Amino acid sequence: MEFRDLKKQYRTLKSEIDSAIQEVIDSGAFILGEKVNELEEKLAEYVGRKHCVAVGNGTDALHLALKALDIGVGDAVFATDFTYVASAVCAYYVGATPVLVDIDERTFNISPEALELAIKEVLKEGKLKPKVIVSVDLFGLPADYERIDAIAKKYNLYVLEDAAQGFGGRIKDKKACSFGDISTTSFFPAKPLGCYGDGGAIFTDDEDTDKYLRSVRALGKSPVDKYDNYQIGINSRLDSLQAAILLPKFEAFKSYELDRVNQIAQRYSKRLKGHLETPLIPEGYLSSYAQYTILLDDSEQREKIQNVLKEKNIPSMVYYPRCMHQQRVFKELNLNDEMFPISTDIVTRCLSLPIGPYLSLEEVDMVSDTLLAII
Ligand SMILES: *Cc1c(COP(=O)(O)O)cnc(C)c1O
Repeated sequence: MEFRDLKKQYRTLKSEIDSAIQEVIDSGAFILGEKVNELEEKLAEYVGRKHCVAVGNGTDALHLALKALDIGVGDAVFATDFTYVASAVCAYYVGATPVLVDIDERTFNISPEALELAIKEVLKEGKLKPKVIVSVDLFGLPADYERIDAIAKKYNLYVLEDAAQGFGGRIKDKKACSFGDISTTSFFPAKPLGCYGDGGAIFTDDEDTDKYLRSVRALGKSPVDKYDNYQIGINSRLDSLQAAILLPKFEAFKSYELDRVNQIAQRYSKRLKGHLETPLIPEGYLSSYAQYTILLDDSEQREKIQNVLKEKNIPSMVYYPRCMHQQRVFKELNLNDEMFPISTDIVTRCLSLPIGPYLSLEEVDMVSDTLLAII
């Protein structure tokens, strides 16, 4: 069994993917170009934003989104304590300071209560200027944008949606990558919509932001003359090959993968509910299930379960084994476990199970039976 079966996905889509790759090689144009334009248009339309700018990876997408919001030295960037490191470390790329915030214990997303307290604390201290909330759609579930937007409005902050794991998720009819002032995603292979290497995108409704991003992803070139570089940019362009691979994958994602992964998740929840804590999907929300993450009693039980699963060749992963405040890269912030009771507890008990649109219901049952036998 694979943790996320990318090989089976390739076997299913092989003829389309192979011919798309061949087409790019035959064209002799490998960076940006028509395939990237086509992808950008289709993704923008799907998520419901005016513009999509494809970049080299999801981390660059966050970096450039912060640049587009003009975040810099002296600014506070509020980020969740339970995420992949990029969501918080990106603050440093623009000279700003991350302010970590504890999470909601049932959705694993940033806690609106803790967020408001953190903003008040920063205002009281008076050293940093609260500027932006980086809200992560962790494991595929959109964050609580109703409350996050209200807080952002109250304190006059931007919202940057980090939908690296969230692509395909939604709240009622509003899709991930359309929340907040600007949003980003990642096409890292294991994400809900992944390519065969690194890739990412930024979404905006603002025409000038779109123009700015197209310039700074390509060393600050002017739109008309690429050797007229009028501002400092980075090199973060999406490869044509990755766009060509993403186009048929995106069709599969829309037409059946997203539904299928939800069926798989529902089967897990039906089997496991009542025996352990299964993911909570609030009313009106849809998750794209980048991960299916359960909560166990404690780290000893988790270790025992992981060992038994391993003996049966069932892969499982701990996303994430450490909170951001426990990462050495953030040690200058002088944070401790007592300041983040929820995330500190959850990293000791969370376990992610095999998930993906190509997992079979038989495989879900086998994983569930194995888990239930141990518990
Ligand atoms: C994967 C991920 C990123 C970074 O994306 P890359 O394409 O790997 O650079 C950022 N934020 C979150 C929440 C992620 O899961």
